Amino acid sequence: MSEPIIGIDLGTTNSEVAVVRDGKPHVFEEGGDPILPSFVGLAEDGKLLVGHAARNQWVVAPERTVKSIKRKMGQDVKVKLGDQEYRPQEISAMILRALKERASAQLGQAVKKAVITVPADFNDDQRNATREAGELAGLEVVRILNEPTAASLTYDPKSSELQRILVYDLGGGTFDVSIVQAQEGVIEVLSSHGDTQLGGDDFDELLFKHVVLQFQTQHGIDLGANVYARARLLRAVEAAKRQLSFHAFIRLEEEFIAEKDGQALHLQMEITRLEYEELIQPLLTRTMDCVQRALEDAKLLPAALDKVVLVGGSTRTPLVSRLLEERLGQAAHQEVNPDLCVAMGAGIQAALIEGQDVGAVLVDITPHSLGIRCLDYMHGIDFPFRFAPIIRRNTALPGSRSEMFSTVHDNQKEVEIEVYQGENDDVRFNHRIGNFRITGLANVAAGNQLVVQCDLNLDGILKVSAKEKATGLKKDVTIENALAHFEGSEIAGARERLDRLWDQSTTAEEGDFDEIDDEEEMDDEQPYPNEFASEVPVLVPGPREGQRETVQARALLEKAERLLEKVAPEDKIELERMLNAVRHAVTDRQWENVTKACNELSDILFYLEDA
Ligand code: AMP
Repeated sequence: MSEPIIGIDLGTTNSEVAVVRDGKPHVFEEGGDPILPSFVGLAEDGKLLVGHAARNQWVVAPERTVKSIKRKMGQDVKVKLGDQEYRPQEISAMILRALKERASAQLGQAVKKAVITVPADFNDDQRNATREAGELAGLEVVRILNEPTAASLTYDPKSSELQRILVYDLGGGTFDVSIVQAQEGVIEVLSSHGDTQLGGDDFDELLFKHVVLQFQTQHGIDLGANVYARARLLRAVEAAKRQLSFHAFIRLEEEFIAEKDGQALHLQMEITRLEYEELIQPLLTRTMDCVQRALEDAKLLPAALDKVVLVGGSTRTPLVSRLLEERLGQAAHQEVNPDLCVAMGAGIQAALIEGQDVGAVLVDITPHSLGIRCLDYMHGIDFPFRFAPIIRRNTALPGSRSEMFSTVHDNQKEVEIEVYQGENDDVRFNHRIGNFRITGLANVAAGNQLVVQCDLNLDGILKVSAKEKATGLKKDVTIENALAHFEGSEIAGARERLDRLWDQSTTAEEGDFDEIDDEEEMDDEQPYPNEFASEVPVLVPGPREGQRETVQARALLEKAERLLEKVAPEDKIELERMLNAVRHAVTDRQWENVTKACNELSDILFYLEDA
């Protein structure tokens, strides 16, 4: 083997090293972990620590530990480590050296050359300092590569057509967005914007404050005031935050977190994804403004982008892809592990310099979205065929995701879970792959919450479960072969069925229902094929903004509509007016007005039912 070149992502919080083997990028692991925390420290006995060991001692021995040295690269400063002072490139050199040795040990040969990545907005001083750090670590830096360029290489290393790719990189402490243009191996950064003080650490802090406030309200104790409770809680909320990327809610439990009047206090709290998203939304909106500026600087409209690529651990937060899709009109790619994407790209660049033939990084993904049918009444009319995706298309496998749903009726005892595969918002265009019914739900008002979870493994076996949140009552189904491709004939069949329905509804509107020929005629009472019988008890998506109000409104409207035919004419006019007030408030998403109108309607119903 010729002299190997390694690719290094030298990050602010984490670093990794990769090469290409047999045409595929490979990130070197140590103890099963590909990540080397970018921390350098001195142990009590003066021994040099790099990576996890240094990070672990940072809380207890900050004077002997250096973190985030990348922020100081290119500056004429020194940092203290024990009783010595070092230039930033010397500290970075220690991280690079650890990575170089990791690669040498696993390749079984000395490594002398590297490609190292840097943020697109690093200036000459910062780039030179990075190069110097490499040399201090005994590496010839054959290329300094922009991080967004590296990320785009993993998706398309040798595109012959012109491609414009937006790379959105949200890590632990920094954010940047770049637009790169690639053609025939030449990649240039058209624009780049960012915020060097924004990332997952800020999300942790917001969630931390949220929990502290709730605990204080409950127990009158400030968990932030105690250094140990604070450290424990920060670790717990970071783990909770990661879980919320995949699950609709989590339970935060920390035993003996505080003490009051000689009694131990435990932390037990439930956090929903919705609550968490509300906390971080303002920060993510800031990142979206940067996206807009990057587009303006590159003089591009969103439609001119060929691809949107996600990099950095924090992009696993589903709200990130949702906001990006809303803003850019296309789904973002995150199939390549967002923590390792830049390192893999550096490895690919190294291989290209070596003259190796490299293809795009291939990962196992689900080619279709998987989800369930639910009722959508958020836009004022009931639509019982809404497809609610749970595992979205292009999710890396194995994958596990859950979403929250709610019952539609008061005392709804059962729910039919119909599982679909496909991309259409309307399940009738998708492919039904299974169903089951959960019965024996609690006797409670509409809005009873159920968590529906999908677990999909590499063999395409899908397990779907529904769990009543309040009681833990659970039912599930296993579907073999959930990744099977949609048959062309099934799509055609679904489309035909829809076309028929559509034709029928337009003809009906025109008033010549009679002309539909016998074979095709459908029962006026039952506008949908049998398999979609509307009595099937379904769920609504949520909870989400306005859901509580909408569920209440819906239950009241049903009750009022039943009474409408029975009441005296003068009451009927008044009742209709109130019904319309509720409907309009729901359609306009004026939640306060919904509550007000519902209260009025509820009062009159009370009076009419009694009459
Ligand atoms: P990076 O700097 O790219 O290594 O990203 C690290 C950040 O990603 C940290 O703030 C992590 O808490 C965050 N992170 C890692 N995994 C997840 C996840 N599943 N959901 C949300 N944030 C995550």
